[in-house]
Amino acid sequence: MRPVLTVGSVAFDSVKTPCGEMSRIVGGAATFFSVAASYFTNVRLVAVVGDDFGEAEMKVFGGRKIDLAGLQRVPGETFRWKGEYGDDPNSRETIYTHLNVFEEFRPHIPETFRASPIVFLANIHPALQLEVLEQVQEPEFVALDTMNYWIEGAQDELKTVLQRVDVVVINDEEARLLSGESSLVKASRIIRQMGPSRVVIKRGEHGVLMADRDGYFATPGLPIEEVVDPTGAGDTFAGGFVGHLASSETFTDDVCRQAVICGSAMASLSVEDFGLSRLLSLSDKDIRRRFEAFKQLTSFEQL
Ligand code: AMP
Repeated sequence: MRPVLTVGSVAFDSVKTPCGEMSRIVGGAATFFSVAASYFTNVRLVAVVGDDFGEAEMKVFGGRKIDLAGLQRVPGETFRWKGEYGDDPNSRETIYTHLNVFEEFRPHIPETFRASPIVFLANIHPALQLEVLEQVQEPEFVALDTMNYWIEGAQDELKTVLQRVDVVVINDEEARLLSGESSLVKASRIIRQMGPSRVVIKRGEHGVLMADRDGYFATPGLPIEEVVDPTGAGDTFAGGFVGHLASSETFTDDVCRQAVICGSAMASLSVEDFGLSRLLSLSDKDIRRRFEAFKQLTSFEQL
């Protein structure tokens, strides 16, 4: 089992969905990623919070395989984000993004984290993602997430980081924007030409498409009667995906396929409640059962 280093946002989220409304709950891309990945391997978190992030909030990380030596606490307010969802869980409106202490954030990788073999660069400015890579010693494997904002606003820097990344994990809209292609098959080829040998495209409730040099692997989303809160599903997917790879001895095609299902299983569990609630209370059995549900969903007899 190899440890995973991750760098990204820890936040106070407010969300409104057709199932209800929650405010100032702990969220952030690196939080969802870390909690999900910690079910599979040891996680090393590098992020920043303000002095309003107290003992109660820190409890989301407690008792898990998450090393907080890289979590900076600085004066000021923690990053805040609010999103609102309508009936379609795949589309949301961002009501506000208050960067707060995140605005001045410069990732400092503690000495003890620098030899991390696996790195997940969560959604932050590509220049900061590059700073992270400059501080780590030749990781075996680097995965990256990004978002529309950076694809549009910092594309040159993003393309520089992509040259040093093995796997990119993005959603369908971002894949289309980054590649300029509406076909996800063409988009995945173009993105692979930018550097990563593997592209994993998250399609919300429609599942995941993974592409590499040799072909494709796809899974549908698990049919779920009620998606309570889709926030963080993408980061949770990445946590299960990268976590499984880190817990495996090799990165064979079969292991990557299992990783897609681990990611999908974690994301499908996460959306069943608001924020981190469901993710914080999982047992290994819950995860195994969900993995099995994916197998059932996609298995059929030969003609
Ligand atoms: P997802 O639903 O996977 O896109 O992730 C949602 C999470 O990303 C929320 O918990 C937010 O706090 C966090 N988030 C939203 N916008 C940003 C941003 N610009 N930079 C970093 N994290 C963000």
